[in-house]
Amino acid sequence: MAKRDYYDVLGIAKGADADEIKKAYRKMAIKYHPDKNEGDKAAEDKFKEAAEAYEVLSNPEKRQRYDQFGHAANAQSANGGGYGGAGGMNMDDIFSQFGDIFGGGSPFEGFFGGGRQGGGAGRRVARGSNLRIKVRLTLEEIANGTEKKIKVNKQIVCKTCDGTGAKDKASFQTCKTCGGSGAVRRVTNTILGQMQTTSTCPTCNGEGSTILSKCTVCHGDGVVRGEETISINIPAGVSEGMQLSMSGKGNAAPRGGMPGDLIILIEEIPHETLKRDGNNVIYDLHITFIDAALGTSVEVPTIDGKVKIKIDPGTQGGKILRLKSKGVPEVNSYHRGDQLVHINIWTPKALSREERELLEKLQNSPNFKPNPGKNEKSFFERMKEYFE
Ligand SMILES: [Zn+2]
Ligand SMILES: [Zn+2]
Repeated sequence: MAKRDYYDVLGIAKGADADEIKKAYRKMAIKYHPDKNEGDKAAEDKFKEAAEAYEVLSNPEKRQRYDQFGHAANAQSANGGGYGGAGGMNMDDIFSQFGDIFGGGSPFEGFFGGGRQGGGAGRRVARGSNLRIKVRLTLEEIANGTEKKIKVNKQIVCKTCDGTGAKDKASFQTCKTCGGSGAVRRVTNTILGQMQTTSTCPTCNGEGSTILSKCTVCHGDGVVRGEETISINIPAGVSEGMQLSMSGKGNAAPRGGMPGDLIILIEEIPHETLKRDGNNVIYDLHITFIDAALGTSVEVPTIDGKVKIKIDPGTQGGKILRLKSKGVPEVNSYHRGDQLVHINIWTPKALSREERELLEKLQNSPNFKPNPGKNEKSFFERMKEYFE
């Protein structure tokens, strides 16, 4: 596939200044960041494409060459380090770039939940990937909050080598190329004068050390596939689609790096009889028209167990009874929703001969004629009351 023009990629004019380039890339990086587009290959490609464009256009020397030779300049520099190569940039390179555009302690870090290890130069600390799991909760668990112990299959630290990846202490050797710093400096002469660039040490990949003899269990990775039982505290009031994050509980990182996060996706198990509507719980109660006329008391289910409610004589269908604070709490709040009991009058669908005869006797009784008075609430008034 032919490469797109770097200016087009970032959506900027040919004469854009350094600030405009930075701004444009910042926007793209946030939009196509893999943490926000998990599993989206197209977004990942866009993310990489933008990073490559920024890598070239943000560097005056590379930009000048690119302006002169176009993508052909790319091929020339493939050997000299810098941006090049058919494969483009890898994700680690891209994230290390972020130190420049977002700066340390920027809102960006908060935005992506802890951020990546940025900072370009210096020893590179690998980061374990985030792990996503789903947790299915009943309405009762959601209403009361719960602690779930979940067995998670993930990358764990290799116990044999304690995560170092080396067979023993003697197998470690400080990298000779970079002297353990993980970075190498290069000075290049450009039309703008001498320029110093720092890049990841190619020998040790930025780790600062090399392993002579690898751990035989993890083959030098420092991590192995394993299981961990994690107990997750789920606060009351969560809802379907909500994500909780536990920092450091994701996949372990190779050779002593920072573990990723555990992302917990909440799923609701539908309740048999109660329906959740935000913080309220809705229950459909069906009573006979005889009970509605004579009045009765019935048990209704709630999150906290059965509750007896009184049906007044002369209760109309469509009435909504409110059971205060029998709903779902708001997350991190003492406020709790209500349970709304919607009264339906059940009309018999099949009648025996005897029942039919009894009803026929009542059919023309004056008291059975519908006679909604002015005080009767309309359907819309009841709805308004419900949504208040
Ligand atoms: Zn090991
Ligand atoms: Zn090195």
